[in-house]
Parts: sequence; C-alpha cells; structure tokens
Amino acid sequence: MPYYICGNGACPTAGQAFSMTSAGQTYCPQCFTAGSLAAAPTPVVAPTSQTRTIATSNAMDAVGKDAAEVESLIAKWDLNTVSDNEAKKTKDYLYTLGAKSKRIDREGPVTNGNKVVTHGKFRLQFGTKTYAGVWIKVNEILDAAVIRRAFAESVVAGRYVEVYLG
Ligand SMILES: [Zn+2]
Repeated sequence: MPYYICGNGACPTAGQAFSMTSAGQTYCPQCFTAGSLAAAPTPVVAPTSQTRTIATSNAMDAVGKDAAEVESLIAKWDLNTVSDNEAKKTKDYLYTLGAKSKRIDREGPVTNGNKVVTHGKFRLQFGTKTYAGVWIKVNEILDAAVIRRAFAESVVAGRYVEVYLG
C-alpha cells in the first residue's frame, strides 16, 4: 500500500505518514480534507527477532514443580547471537543454576539438506529431564529478551522454539 502525508495542519495525523485503507481515495481518512494527500515514502521496517514453535521437534518433559527454577535459569540467558562455527560445537553448562545438573547446554548444529549449519540448538535440562529448547538462527543479531521468551514458550509448547530475524 502506498503511504501519504496529509497537508492539513490541523489533521490528527500531525505530519506522520500513513497508508491508505482503500484504493483511489483523495481525501484524508483522519480529517477528511479533500485533495490534502501527498505521496510519502514507504517507511523502512527493520527486521525484528521472531519465534516459532517447531511442531515436529522432540517433546519436552513437563516442568511441574520445577517451574520457578526453570524461570530463574532462563533469566540468566544473555546472548543475542550465535555464530555458525560456535553452533557446530557442543558445550555443556553454558548457564547453570546452583547445582550443575540444572543447566542450558549447546547441543550442536541444526543443518539443512546441504549440510549447511542453519541454527545452534540449545537445551535446558535438569538432570535427565529436558524442559525447554531453542533453535537460534546463526549469524543474525537477535534480541536476548526474545530468546529468553522463546525458552519460556518452549516450556509451554513442550517443543523446540526457533528464533530468527523476520
Ligand atoms: Zn488529514
């Protein structure tokens, strides 16, 4: 949809660009001034971190009474990016909570059909139980808060959750 600016100084749009809601309109949809519209550039929207549940991934254990501790462990996550080289390597105890068995591990890479590393795979475990996991798209600057949210979404969904720029 093309963007416009309204030329009426008293318009509630106050000089901000807006997109039209119907084709061929020549009046402002806010102040209804006829012939007041001037074309404006379409705003550039920066890509933002997105999450998506991977429905076909392994099922997680039910969190039950460990919910509060799992939340505390998730809160420790502060990384916003994963390189493809890092993603290839496993690393245990990236983050721990008290006892070392309560941890987030890097499990290794997710690869595509051409064996190209697409994601780093991370898993939140208490002992042998897996409560959450995320796939983080490699070589993208993401938002650590969105990755923490992805872990929390994984707990609820009982599946891995992907984090990527969309
Ligand atoms: Zn207007």
